[in-house]
Amino acid sequence: MNDRPKIAIYWLGACGGCDSSLIDLGESLLELAEAVEIVIWPVALDFKHDRLAALPDKSLALAIISGCVRNSAHREMAELLRAKSCVVLACGACACLGGIPGLANLRPKGEIMAWVYGEAPTVVNPERIRPERNCEMNGEQLELPEFYDHVYALNQVVAVDYYLPGCPPPLDLLLGAIQGLLGNQPPPPGSILASAK
Ligand code: SF4
Repeated sequence: MNDRPKIAIYWLGACGGCDSSLIDLGESLLELAEAVEIVIWPVALDFKHDRLAALPDKSLALAIISGCVRNSAHREMAELLRAKSCVVLACGACACLGGIPGLANLRPKGEIMAWVYGEAPTVVNPERIRPERNCEMNGEQLELPEFYDHVYALNQVVAVDYYLPGCPPPLDLLLGAIQGLLGNQPPPPGSILASAK
């Protein structure tokens, strides 16, 4: 029987740098992958939403979530991972605080869309086409996620147990945080794991 703790690693509104840092753990990541069962990690494993949804609630020991919440798809995944996980780690500045994507909160959504799809000097879009939530592509009806007015940190959407800031978090802190949270004496909930090891 496989009784290794199950973990999920997932990014929301993120650049991928936090996931790259996990990969940069190198041999330590291989050792970690032997000690735990990584069941969700879209960067490295074929991701099936249905597989995650079918897991019993709280069956994951740990969810490591990077990135901010900017749209309804991010929120849905954050809520799903929260329901399936005993412990949620907000990994990186974006998940902890909004990070670089949070700078978008300095401008209204309408201004951002106007710039990105029309006014920026590098844009070639004479018809000012913008994405629509409901559209058709190759004969298929698509529904895009709702783009929120605001960028949210993870704890503004779901309960977060631990915070690991950094952009991305330094490798030693990243490894120390994961080992600490999966160990017998995890730090007090709500901790900022700036010196975890
Ligand atoms: Fe990228 Fe930095 Fe955000 Fe991590 S915290 S997803 S490295 S921008």
